[in-house]
Amino acid sequence: LYQKDYDIIVVGAGVLGAASAHYLKKNNPSKEILIVDMYSGVAQGNTGRSNAMFRNTFSSLDNQILSESAINFYLDLESSGSNLGIRKTGYLWLLSEKEQRKFERHIERMIASGIETKKYDRQILQLSLPTLQTNVKNSEEASLMGLEDIDAGFFGAKCGQIDPVALTSYYAKEFERMGGKIAFNTFVESLLASPYDPLEVDGEPFVWQESGISGVRVMRGISRDLGAKTTVLAAGAWTNTLLEPLGIDGHIKAKKRQLFKIQASSEQLKKLLKNDNFNALKTLPFLILPETGCFVKAIPESNEFWLGCDDDLNQPFVNAPSRNLEDYSADLSYFENNVYRILGEYLPEFRETKPSKMWAGLYSYNTLDNMPFVFADRGAIVVGGDSGSGIMKGDSLGRIVDAVYRDGEDAEAELYGGLKYRCSKIGFAQRSVEHEEWVI
Ligand SMILES: Cc1cc2nc3c(=O)[nH]c(=O)nc-3n(C[C@H](O)[C@H](O)[C@H](O)COP(=O)(O)OP(=O)(O)OC[C@H]3O[C@@H](n4cnc5c(N)ncnc54)[C@H](O)[C@@H]3O)c2cc1C
Repeated sequence: LYQKDYDIIVVGAGVLGAASAHYLKKNNPSKEILIVDMYSGVAQGNTGRSNAMFRNTFSSLDNQILSESAINFYLDLESSGSNLGIRKTGYLWLLSEKEQRKFERHIERMIASGIETKKYDRQILQLSLPTLQTNVKNSEEASLMGLEDIDAGFFGAKCGQIDPVALTSYYAKEFERMGGKIAFNTFVESLLASPYDPLEVDGEPFVWQESGISGVRVMRGISRDLGAKTTVLAAGAWTNTLLEPLGIDGHIKAKKRQLFKIQASSEQLKKLLKNDNFNALKTLPFLILPETGCFVKAIPESNEFWLGCDDDLNQPFVNAPSRNLEDYSADLSYFENNVYRILGEYLPEFRETKPSKMWAGLYSYNTLDNMPFVFADRGAIVVGGDSGSGIMKGDSLGRIVDAVYRDGEDAEAELYGGLKYRCSKIGFAQRSVEHEEWVI
């Protein structure tokens, strides 16, 4: 494996690396492509630690397009027999009066885009979710925390859960079936930068030589250099650790995100898992509480809930993350002082609950606009900046990486369903996307 050079090396076997490698191999079958990943299998990084939800309810038109097209691909794949663990539960955003006003134009825009949505007023919401406390300001503790009453609900129907390991495995298996190679347990120490016309002297590349990224230095027992004409960097939260030593801006900042699993042990919690009013599965939709971004994911099959919160302030950025994601553990005190307090006010079933499991991962924020990017720079194509929603756009981003490989950033990628998308919109040289406001 190591003696040979490749046409393309993809760093990262998360959903973005696997989807990219899949489309690269599919559309360039004669090219020799290798994926390298430091872990022992696919989706062992942040893809496998995610909340595994998908939605097309975004404020930015570009995110609407990227997610809608990817979701259609996932739904069609599942209907044609692949088991991606899709459960179309819907997303129910519970909005305060203030948020209703703030988000009105985004909601109108989603409706105008034809996104399947439904609005609930407070009364209907109350009937559909009988235990939901919409009037929390009456509670002393809720007023102390400044929690807002729930004034309305906004439901996204084409949203739900997906198994990100199954999805990533699908892309990786298809990639291997077409002749692509994967090297697991292989750490990329650095990207190689070399001149296009090397003189074979020490100190190259010199500033006057035309040069670019020419592969990767990997560590698998011993260090070796692997040459590649193109290096695709899909290293997620670790993007900066490979690009910054070369003086290339990775445009992401990583941040810890925590999830807490609660077993539905009481009768009230078991009852909450089921609900006839929102989806064909008759389950509780994914709930997002007002202002705080606290959320509840119901998984009736395993009798559990996953809980979390949009904890933006006071959570430091991690510029060069550790290889070991266990270094970013979830804090019980975070649950007790934040998630639990908020949730207990809106859904009393969660009072006196304790997590049976908790874990954390890293979001890769593009702090410029919360939108993903694909950019090409001197022999490398970088995909990332997915800001907490890369799984639900993975298919579209994989297709865009392939289009940029074939025709550069000015290319038009054909997204699933046939829609043409100008890749430069999510590049940096000619970037033209709006700031995404609906980030959880
Ligand atoms: C708690 C949490 C909840 C989330 N919830 C959702 C959600 O509900 N829906 C959604 O769409 N998204 C969600 N996300 C975001 C989602 O996980 C990411 O958008 C997605 O996983 C990005 O995929 P990726 O392939 O870029 O990253 P990763 O899965 O992290 O893959 C990057 C890969 O690169 C490899 N790598 C990095 N550096 C090196 C190196 N030097 N050498 C070798 N290999 C290397 C890593 O081993 C890793 O496997 C969530 C994230 C977190 C942390």
